[in-house]
Amino acid sequence: MKLIDLNEQYSRLKSRIDRRVQAVLSDGQYIMGPEVSEFEGKFSQYIGVNHVVGCANGTDALQLALMAIGVKPGDAVFVPSFTFVASAEVIALLGATPVFVDVLYDSYSIDPESLSTAISKVRKVKKLQPKAVVAVDLFGIPADYDRLNEICVHNQLVLIEDAAQGIGGSYHDRKLGSVADIAATSFFPSKPLGCYGDGGAVLTDKKEYAEIIRSLSLHGKNKEKYDNIRVGVNSRLDTLQAAILLEKLTIFDQELKIKEHISERYRAELSDDYVMPLIPQYSRSAWAICTLRCSNRNSAISKLKKNNIASAIYYPKCLHQQDAFRYNSLIPVDLSQSETASREVFSIPMHPYLSESDISLVISVLNSV
Ligand SMILES: *Cc1c(COP(=O)(O)O)cnc(C)c1O
Repeated sequence: MKLIDLNEQYSRLKSRIDRRVQAVLSDGQYIMGPEVSEFEGKFSQYIGVNHVVGCANGTDALQLALMAIGVKPGDAVFVPSFTFVASAEVIALLGATPVFVDVLYDSYSIDPESLSTAISKVRKVKKLQPKAVVAVDLFGIPADYDRLNEICVHNQLVLIEDAAQGIGGSYHDRKLGSVADIAATSFFPSKPLGCYGDGGAVLTDKKEYAEIIRSLSLHGKNKEKYDNIRVGVNSRLDTLQAAILLEKLTIFDQELKIKEHISERYRAELSDDYVMPLIPQYSRSAWAICTLRCSNRNSAISKLKKNNIASAIYYPKCLHQQDAFRYNSLIPVDLSQSETASREVFSIPMHPYLSESDISLVISVLNSV
């Protein structure tokens, strides 16, 4: 049993996806073909955000968001330590300083208290200027955007949402991808909405940001080609990937409902040894990944393995513990919840093509550990 089964999904959509792909191949507009803007339009409507700019992957999407707000050396950008490396990597790549912040015990998202503490600590460091916050919808679970927006407005920081795992989730009446100043997402195959290769998008309500991001993604071009007004990158969503995403978007809500049903069964039937994540009130998780915590995860993982059930650890090491970020001990923030999470979490199968008996098997194997 796989964690996420992409083959089953393809079998279901095969004729429609094949037709779409064939149309792109025959048409020949492999770069910026009509499917790209068709997808950007449909996706912006689905999320409820004014502008979507497709790009090459989720990491580029984050980088483009940070470039658009002018992140530069000397800037401090706050980011949780318990997340995928891309969330912090792009900050360092632009020469700015990632300042690691702790996460909440039960929802794994950035802890607003820890963020406030980190901001006041950075304010005391002369050579650093607080600039932005990257909040991550880890595993699909929304961060506390009301409080984060409040903290960001108060401190004049830009709020960036790393929604790579959040598409499909929601916070109050807004879909994830539309709850911060700028959001970045990924269409990596195993993400909630995935293509068949790399892909990503930047989302924002602000026209000024969208225009800069579009320009940056196309080598910093002005209205005309070969008129470059800023130093940009080459990061586009492939026409083939956009064509595939258009078909997948049509069944996306239905798939999400099934994942919610699976999560309810896990929550109701797994024993108390396993802690399911807390989905904050008035929120919906995208159920990108189903992560449990358990004081003895190794036994659980090996029992699953014996029964041919896949599992994984997202993530076994916090970012402040990675060699790549060792230099970053400048700002001492308590990161103990991140460290505990990295020792206790493991993830179990979660995808819309699990049968009721698959779900029962996962539950009984885990409960027998
Ligand atoms: C996958 C992921 C990214 C990066 O997306 P890519 O498309 O792989 O570049 C960034 N942040 C988080 C939280 C992710 O899960």
